[in-house]
Amino acid sequence: MSALAAAVHRSGLAEFPRRVLALTGILFVLAVGATVAGLLVPATLPANDPLSPVARFGIASGVMAVAQLASLRLRFGSGRMSVTWGEAALIIGLYVAPPGWLPAATFVGAGVAWLLLSLLADLRTPIEAIHIALCQTVAVTVAVAATCAFADPIGHRLTPSLTVALILGALVYLLVGAFLAVLSHSLQHGVPLVPALFRALHDKLLMFVGNVVLGLVVVTMIAHDPRWLLLLPPGLWLLQQTYGHRLRADDERRAWQEFANATGALNRLDERAVVAAGIGGALRLFGAEAVEIDVIRADGGWRRYRGDKTGARSDDELGERPRGDTDDATLARPLIVGGVHVGDLRVRLTPSTGPSRRDELALAAFGDALAAALHDAATHRELAILSARSSYDAVHDPLTGLLNRFALMRRGEALLRELEHGEPVMLVLLDINRFRDVNDTLGHAAGDELLQSVAARLDRMTGDDELLGRLGGDEFALLARMPGGTSQTAIGDREAAPPIALRRAREMVEGLAEPVEVEGVRMSVEASAGVVVAGAGTADLTELLRRADVALYQGKDGGSAVTAYDPARDVATTDQLALLAELREALTDDSQLVLALQPAVNLSTGAPTGVEALIRWKHPRRGTLAPGTFVRVAEGSELLGEFTRYVIDRALAVAADIAANGITVPISVNLSPQSLMDPHLPGDVQELLRRHRVPPNLLVLEITETVVMRELEVVDEVLAALREIGVQLAVDDFGTGFSSLTFLTRIAVHEVKVDRSFVMRMADSPHAAAIVRATIELGRELGMRVVAEGVETAAQRAALAALGCSAAQGYHFFKPMPADKIVAVLAQLLDTAQAQVYPFRADGTGVS
Ligand code: C2E
Ligand code: CA
Ligand code: CA
Repeated sequence: MSALAAAVHRSGLAEFPRRVLALTGILFVLAVGATVAGLLVPATLPANDPLSPVARFGIASGVMAVAQLASLRLRFGSGRMSVTWGEAALIIGLYVAPPGWLPAATFVGAGVAWLLLSLLADLRTPIEAIHIALCQTVAVTVAVAATCAFADPIGHRLTPSLTVALILGALVYLLVGAFLAVLSHSLQHGVPLVPALFRALHDKLLMFVGNVVLGLVVVTMIAHDPRWLLLLPPGLWLLQQTYGHRLRADDERRAWQEFANATGALNRLDERAVVAAGIGGALRLFGAEAVEIDVIRADGGWRRYRGDKTGARSDDELGERPRGDTDDATLARPLIVGGVHVGDLRVRLTPSTGPSRRDELALAAFGDALAAALHDAATHRELAILSARSSYDAVHDPLTGLLNRFALMRRGEALLRELEHGEPVMLVLLDINRFRDVNDTLGHAAGDELLQSVAARLDRMTGDDELLGRLGGDEFALLARMPGGTSQTAIGDREAAPPIALRRAREMVEGLAEPVEVEGVRMSVEASAGVVVAGAGTADLTELLRRADVALYQGKDGGSAVTAYDPARDVATTDQLALLAELREALTDDSQLVLALQPAVNLSTGAPTGVEALIRWKHPRRGTLAPGTFVRVAEGSELLGEFTRYVIDRALAVAADIAANGITVPISVNLSPQSLMDPHLPGDVQELLRRHRVPPNLLVLEITETVVMRELEVVDEVLAALREIGVQLAVDDFGTGFSSLTFLTRIAVHEVKVDRSFVMRMADSPHAAAIVRATIELGRELGMRVVAEGVETAAQRAALAALGCSAAQGYHFFKPMPADKIVAVLAQLLDTAQAQVYPFRADGTGVS
């Protein structure tokens, strides 16, 4: 380091901010100008002056120096401000020396005083000392000019006008001096000028008044007898103590206020917010240059937050515990709560001020508050993560991250509730074929990996508003609304899955078939899917899953990858015991088992020939069940008698209603074959007919030929008893048994119902057509009604009419309908039929 550089370093010039240096330059020019100009003004000294001019200048400089040396320094923002005896020195100086000399005296006195302070006490750098001396010189110059505009103080007794002029000078000195000091301060520390100026004036006010009084007292003493001045030192000491006390008290109050604000602001729950408040608080509280807070993270890493007084903020991720730079001007404190180290706090103060004992204590208290706040924030964060994780865990499958069974059920039910009643939804149940082999041959880790990649693939194929879940093991389920499905396209519970649902399931299976590498082995994932489509509100999700499961295993048995649910093949897989218990309950509750009614019509007149009662189970959980799913359960149990009575009872209620409306159409009830072995049946039927006041011939009991073929005595007795009562008998599903024709010759019936399968195949199977034709002819010969079942098209209707079939039943005419609709439909049918039978009214107008 060269001598010059060393000098510059010692002078503090290197650290002195440029902006302030510019001000120093301006002040220097002004001070030198004032000094020179002042010295050039001719000085008027008192006549017979006992003091030499040099002595007067010396006294003035000395007073100026003493006023600065005895100054009090207080913290001011992030720097320090000196409060001096300047006003007293000014008044005394104006009394002892010609005004023109005062700038020079001030420059010399203040300069020497501050240089001494900077060298001996190391309070200021030399350049700062010079800067302060220049400020004083300029302030004194302006003040002297103000006083001299009104009076000439030197050597004169204190008159009121001179007093006022001196006070004015002191005031000007205060204002200019404070302005320059605050300007320098704000240039150096970047704080706003005006509030700082007000604060400085407020702080100096008491001292200003004391200084002016002191100056005037001293002047009066000198004027009377300078020996009075010997009394001055104790008084000065007392004043100095008072000033100091007052300033410290103010400072203290402000510090506490700031401390309260700073610690109060720490009260946040988020680490960043706490740290931001901590940095801002420490910057203000300590008037610091910069603040660093290192925080230990949950994962053991560190994060360093930094902020400085210019407002710059930064944060960095650090690996291990960072080293903080420390020097004399930096205060550091580990942040510890209850023995737990949560971080470190470092506060870098302005080098010139350095840390005081009070700073250290304040840092300790602030650090503890910060540590507590950081600890709270970390705890809060952990709690939040923990509760988020546990709610995530509660609904997600830990292996694949998909919804678990529980969540799929819950959200699925919610989705079904949201949709309009009847809006179609589809459920695809997927199962990986031979998954067990993967587990057995490659190990469970490979199995898990396979499941994860399957889950990921399925997830990519799933839309945002669809629900995909892993039900457990190797089973996955997708629940989705049918594309374009609205209640207009609502589907019944019996309809098969539409092609669009099957295509979707096939896409899923094909998407999985793409080879995947598991534990280094390339394999292709074969999966099977069961698909079910149902209207929202017709079955709950448990039932949909059951149906999809039925489809899936039927598919697996049949070797097909994608299988739609077929209710007709469901019976065997239904949980019969559970269903039986539920049926027992349903029989006691008349809202669950209800009748759907399907009219049969006369093919030539269109008049109704009968109404068939078909049972439906509006199951509270499984949705609407068709008879195929539960009638067999009843048939195999002791509930059958009760079930049969229930149906007949309901049907007769409908019959009574129909009859009450003046319509004479019989109602048909399907009997289970086993019912014909129940000797109580005829009695029950008779009792029910009586109760509903329905004529026996309005009840048709449909029986199938199979049971009758067993030639049991009891069956013959029951049939004879029923005929005795007067009810009609019909043979249902005619043609499907082995010896139908023999059957008809053995027992006399009123009606034969040609099975749907023949009607369906009639057009393209001559064999089927022959059976239909033969049955119709036989019926005509034996005097029985022949009703064709399952007529779905106009072509079938026309073909049957051509064969001379008297009546037909089927979707072509009516689908089974709720009981409250049947009377209106029958009335309508009768009206149109009569119009056809009597095409002309009496007045000759035709209606057709
Ligand atoms: P079923 O006696 O042959 O009744 C006719 C079935 O065919 C009914 O099915 C009916 O909805 C359906 N159907 C009617 N027209 C058409 C058509 O044009 N096309 C097609 N594809 N189907 C048509 P459902 O109601 O599901 O009844 C099924 C079977 O359950 C009945 O066959 C009957 O044997 C039995 N069943 C119904 N109700 C009862 C009952 O109360 N007691 C007993 N024991 N059995 C019943
Ligand atoms: Ca039937
Ligand atoms: Ca039938």
